[in-house]
Amino acid sequence: MRFGGIVALSDVSIEVEAGAMVGLVGPNGAGKSTLFAVLSGLLRPKAGRTSLGGDDVTRLSAQRRAQRGLARTFQQPELFLGLTVREHLVLAYRSRHARSRLWSDMFTVGSLRRPDKAEAERVEGLIELLSLGPVADTVVDVLSLGTSRLVEVGRALATSPSVMLLDEPLSGLDAHEAASLAHALRRTVEQEHISALLVEHDVPTVLEHCSKVYVLDFGRMIASGDPGSIRSNPDVRAAYLGDEDVAM
Ligand code: ADP
Ligand code: MG
Repeated sequence: MRFGGIVALSDVSIEVEAGAMVGLVGPNGAGKSTLFAVLSGLLRPKAGRTSLGGDDVTRLSAQRRAQRGLARTFQQPELFLGLTVREHLVLAYRSRHARSRLWSDMFTVGSLRRPDKAEAERVEGLIELLSLGPVADTVVDVLSLGTSRLVEVGRALATSPSVMLLDEPLSGLDAHEAASLAHALRRTVEQEHISALLVEHDVPTVLEHCSKVYVLDFGRMIASGDPGSIRSNPDVRAAYLGDEDVAM
């Protein structure tokens, strides 16, 4: 992937298996967001291939990839003010599943409050999975950033994805919130048997929760492997040298 004269990604290869939470880390400017955009179909690289569940999706738009089960969360949760947590989840579920309903009926607030049986079942399951019960009927406007991120994750899950791309879901959270969201993510990936790619600045949390970690630096993959091998990798340490935030 090039931006004018800048080679943002070169010779990069990444694989995320079903049921695995895989981490992607690297210093600022390494190319993480660029890779994320390439995978989700927002950027078109000069060369390379993306496949989803064994199908080549290289030529498909971001929207088509989403329809095929690739969900992503945004770094800044973009929630709809005035809607409750439960209404958000019903809305997200309908955006992928509801085919038989009338478009005009599907997304009115009144209709969001009357989910059918299948919708209610999926949504209540997610509320339980993410421990959102206490805030299920709360409007999102008043939620903390940590809880908003849980709602964002729930929304992605409501579309029943096979692969989830998570863009720095832990940023801005305190240590306790970050740990509990990381746990919830891992539990979800295992229970739903989906793949998750976690793009994250918080290296220690990635090393703690991901089964495999990729490390980008200057647009190249300098290391990949289990957390133990990443922790002791001299190239990784060198890439993070001088980055005081990172304790590995
Ligand atoms: P990271 O997310 O790891 O911090 P990025 O993927 O945002 O890194 O950036 C990788 C490189 O590509 C950087 O040198 C950045 O300046 C450059 N870059 C990213 N997006 C653009 C763009 N839209 N136009 C030009 N250069 C870009
Ligand atoms: Mg970035």
